[in-house]
Formats: sequence, C-alpha cells, structure tokens
Amino acid sequence: MIEAVLFDFDGTLAPNLDLPDMRRQVADLTVKVGVPEEIFADLYIVEIIVAGHQWLTQQDAELAAHYKRQADQLIIDIELAAAAKTTIFAGVKEMLSGLREQQIKLGIVTRNCRAAIDVVFPQHPRYVDALHARDDVRHLKPDPRHLQDNLVALGAQATNSVMVGDGALDMRAGRELNMHCIGVLTGSNDGPALLQAGASEIFDDCLNLHKSLF
Ligand SMILES: [Mg+2]
Repeated sequence: MIEAVLFDFDGTLAPNLDLPDMRRQVADLTVKVGVPEEIFADLYIVEIIVAGHQWLTQQDAELAAHYKRQADQLIIDIELAAAAKTTIFAGVKEMLSGLREQQIKLGIVTRNCRAAIDVVFPQHPRYVDALHARDDVRHLKPDPRHLQDNLVALGAQATNSVMVGDGALDMRAGRELNMHCIGVLTGSNDGPALLQAGASEIFDDCLNLHKSLF
C-alpha cells in the first residue's frame, strides 16, 4: 500500500528552470568576488554559495556576508522572474486529485524558493498536504533529510512512499530512504541518467500516476 507520493517541482510538475544558466550566473558572481573556481567546480547552485561564503569568511568576513546576501538574492530574482512566466503542466491538478481520492498523502520537495512555488502553483495548499521548499529546510536534496522532513509532515513511512522527479538528485535522495523512485522525462535528465541515479522506473511524465501506480 502506498502511503505518500512526494513530487519534485521544476521539471516534474512544471517546466524546468534554466538551471545551467542560473549556475553560470552564480559562478560568475562567485569568481568576481575572488573565490577560486576549484572551490566550487563540482557543486550545485546553492552549494556554490555555501562554499563561496565559507571560503570568503576566512579572507574577509564583511565581504563574505555581502557576497552571501548578493548571491542569495540573485537566485531568488532568477527564480521569481522564471516563475512569472511559468504555470504547472496541464493535467497536474487532475493527477493530484486522483491520487488524493485514493487516500494517498501528497508532498512537494523542491530546491526552489517558496515564493516561486506560490507564483507558479498558487493553489498548492488545496492539492498537496505539505510543501518543503528551500527556505523551509536546513538540508537540501540530494540530502535525504529534505525528503524526510516532508514524510514526517505527512506522517508517512519512506518505505511505503514514492519519490517522483526529473532530477538525478531526486532519485538519489529517494533511494537513500528506500523509497520507490519514479523518474520522469519532462525535465533535465534522460532515462539512462535517471536509472543510473537509482530510479526504479521511468515514465514519460507524471500525469497518469493516479491511473498507473496501482
Ligand atoms: Mg526538478
């Protein structure tokens, strides 16, 4: 029996953000304030800011604080600008309602900011039981604690729950908790990449989940 389904947001319930461009803008800012590129070469966007801030703190605490504020605001600005031009995929509300009719608890776990989700999917409180955006958690995906926070809010066991996402980090986080992981092809990864990251199965999109999970 499935207790809960957790969804990633961008690339899963809504069109993807341009993450490579966002990362480039954050990397440019980080280099501009003097952080060596090798400090953040393999990191995701938010983690670049954490690493850059940490490195700068050892050089100049005031500059570090200024960089952190500037970089945090940069990603929020990018996210909100994208959100203003985005809506959820057609059919998402029907799919979520269909799962709910089967007594399944629903959650959203996203590295995006809460304000952007409120813009793209303002009705989310009527369709899902818990949203954990970047500003709601201390540990972000692929750290499984991001998903765990959502599962706790839903009162669901990981092993009886499903993680749905377009990102390798969604699959990795879900796998660590022994969730059933469904990769979807509406975002930034292809099937082989999602399988490699731990997907149990691959769907073209999430829109028929309420018909196919059982
Ligand atoms: Mg995604």
